[in-house]
Amino acid sequence: MNYTVQQIAEITNAEVIGDKNLVVKNIAYDSRIIYSIKNTAFIAINTHKNSGEKFIEAAIDRGINIIISEHQYPQFENITWIIVKNSVDFLQQLAKYHFENSHLRSIGITGSNGKTILKEWLYQCLWNEFPTVKSPKSFNSQIGLPLSLLQINDSHQLGIFEVGISHPNEMEKLENIFHPQIGLLTHIGNAHAANFSSEEELIDEKIKLFKDSEIIIYNGDHSLVDQKIKKLYSDKKLISYGLKETNDVFIKNNISKDENILVEYFGEEISFPAHQRDEATLTNATALIAVLKVLQVENKKIIEKINLLKAIEMRLEAIEGNKGNIVINDSFNLDLDSLKTALQFLKEYNKPKKSLVLTDIVGVNTNSKELYEEVSELVNEQYFDSVFLIGNEISKFSELFKSKTFTFIDTKELIESKHLSEIENQIILLKGARKFEIEKLKDILELRKHDTVLEVNLNAILHNINYHKSLLKPGTKMMAMVKANAYGLGSYEISEFLQHHHIDYLGVAYVDEGVELRKKGITTPIIVMNPEQHSYQTIIEYNLEPEIYSFRVLELFYEAVQKSGYDKKYPIHIKLETGMHRLGFKDFELDQLSETLSEKNLKVQSMFSHLSSSDMPEEKEFTFKQLDIFEKNSSFLTEKLGYSPLRHILNSSGITSYTDHQHDMVRIGIGMLGESPDTEIQKQLQSVVSFKTVISQISMVENGESVGYSRKFKPDHLTKIATIPVGYADGIPRLIGNQVGSLGVNKILAPIVGNICMDMMMINVENIPNVKEGDMVTVFNAKPSLKEFAGYCKTITYEVLTSISPRVKRIYIKD
Ligand SMILES: *Cc1c(COP(=O)(O)O)cnc(C)c1O
Repeated sequence: MNYTVQQIAEITNAEVIGDKNLVVKNIAYDSRIIYSIKNTAFIAINTHKNSGEKFIEAAIDRGINIIISEHQYPQFENITWIIVKNSVDFLQQLAKYHFENSHLRSIGITGSNGKTILKEWLYQCLWNEFPTVKSPKSFNSQIGLPLSLLQINDSHQLGIFEVGISHPNEMEKLENIFHPQIGLLTHIGNAHAANFSSEEELIDEKIKLFKDSEIIIYNGDHSLVDQKIKKLYSDKKLISYGLKETNDVFIKNNISKDENILVEYFGEEISFPAHQRDEATLTNATALIAVLKVLQVENKKIIEKINLLKAIEMRLEAIEGNKGNIVINDSFNLDLDSLKTALQFLKEYNKPKKSLVLTDIVGVNTNSKELYEEVSELVNEQYFDSVFLIGNEISKFSELFKSKTFTFIDTKELIESKHLSEIENQIILLKGARKFEIEKLKDILELRKHDTVLEVNLNAILHNINYHKSLLKPGTKMMAMVKANAYGLGSYEISEFLQHHHIDYLGVAYVDEGVELRKKGITTPIIVMNPEQHSYQTIIEYNLEPEIYSFRVLELFYEAVQKSGYDKKYPIHIKLETGMHRLGFKDFELDQLSETLSEKNLKVQSMFSHLSSSDMPEEKEFTFKQLDIFEKNSSFLTEKLGYSPLRHILNSSGITSYTDHQHDMVRIGIGMLGESPDTEIQKQLQSVVSFKTVISQISMVENGESVGYSRKFKPDHLTKIATIPVGYADGIPRLIGNQVGSLGVNKILAPIVGNICMDMMMINVENIPNVKEGDMVTVFNAKPSLKEFAGYCKTITYEVLTSISPRVKRIYIKD
């Protein structure tokens, strides 16, 4: 976009205070990830859950001088304000105007699953055919879609946008803003069916997006979808795709037998090799081909592009580097948009010094001078310490870069220069086109080579949190339990991520855990569940909030508050006993408790209890009794106190099974890690953790020989045995040796044989084709799943996770 403040105000009926002639090219909505302040306005978005206005100050501190907000804050000087009635309506009005006045071909993608992947695939295939703009990440909602549309500028010829809805009547509003020429309907599943009375209602709602489309491309394997589209849109050009032969685009051959996949498109055949052959991937591939054909991409090119897709790993990874560095590796593709995304990602880290490795941008048809001018402007705004440019093209423009800048012909030359070994305590962004293979730098910069890792997918945590939130009322708060090192995954890393995503509360077990978080910069309120008596001073010093579960703790803590000289009401959390018989005030203590509390200068921030069996359907009656007692006792206390503390009792399985009892807050734990006892809910969650290692050695063991300590495994025929560098000191219980448990190799289970050693174990790999040393082994979370693994160990998933030894390196993945 490119408007003056005056134009924006006219389009949206807003009021301007300040300089009407300023130009706005970008709208930033998150003060933490503003990557450029030039021609950028900050919008304070107010939703029913949150007010963006509290971040105005941070945006102004970053250097923004145009603020779009529902209210003006006159304390900030020299700011131009665009004052709007409703921030979300404003965005939608502006986006609608902007889209309708742009001249691009547009593709609108909706459906239940596969929207983001299809959008990314299409983008990968099309960005060097036409200048293309797309929604970032999965920005597809009432706010995300307008923000995506506002990225369109005059140079774009094609726009690919995702449109997502989760409630009835939402599509009409979105279609009013964005009416794509080409509509693409992906798989319809039951991901959001919860808010719809039937699948039919869901389909009716989604296909409203295509009201003004010229062409509709849809999955014809779904017969209801097929019927509905044909009936409602008989006047449009319709193209169905899918696995069934009745579709216009379909897979013709036997996918489990033949080497290549053969797709038929209106009588033409397109054949390509495919590695992933699951139904979802192949269905998406037919959709992709349908769109590419509509855009008149030649068959030969389509095949080339599909072949390139297989290497896609759509993620930005953050790796602990050597010498105190953090390495952000984004070495998969490079264009302006993905550079912006990576620069935003950098903002999430607060290392004072940073360096950038950047390569030529390949395959774009634009004027390279203009392109690198824009690149250098973006880069200059980040104040990198050093910039390393790789490639002949970009090196020509090295003068444009203001940091200390070095140029190299290729990655090898940079490696040989030894510059990288001089970087200390920095964040290093690796951003390059694939052909430069800058992932080789990652290997050099990485802290230690670890064959054994516990990989934590932060995006999946966010997905799981959002899933649980979608079940709750909009105003219900959420506490994330990060006790026991966040169930073994890394308390700081998880808390930092959750804080970034505005979690309301964090819960730890012990004071030390809270202190560590505060020391590392976590400012979110933290409740300490087990405040030990020697730790009360520390609690106060670090602004932590204790759980108070007995009169003894109440008196001792209050003494500490008085001694500390704290002169306001200190926040505490009252634990009520309702049936768990662990900690808490009992019924008969409540009278006295209310009296004691009213005499003291303390503020009851919340009252809560804990369900002992929310994961057990057979204990429903007992759970309802706990919920009743909590309701009664917390109401009693609220009345006596004369104010209303927050109330909360639901843990993860409580959220899904006893949603009506959410009160003011819920406490999520294992659910955010993607585990649920309910198989239906389990399907909606994403797997967060995987424990991986590699094969150290393979041995052929003959009949008569034996494996491991005490000769516990003696094969009766020549058997292929693999040694794995993980043992009981890593947290694998010894009891799953001797063929009780199995590990996954190439998606096949290989039984553990013999006794598990301290640092190693052996598995039988005779049934695994082509297995070799160095191959990856999954301890859990694929095959076997975390649940299956917990089954081998005769315990619950919680204990498996918290038992993994700290020496196993945790790595964190984010988009
Ligand atoms: C650990 C804990 C939770 C979270 O339980 P999950 O079953 O993991 O959701 C909630 N509340 C309290 C008091 C806890 O100790």
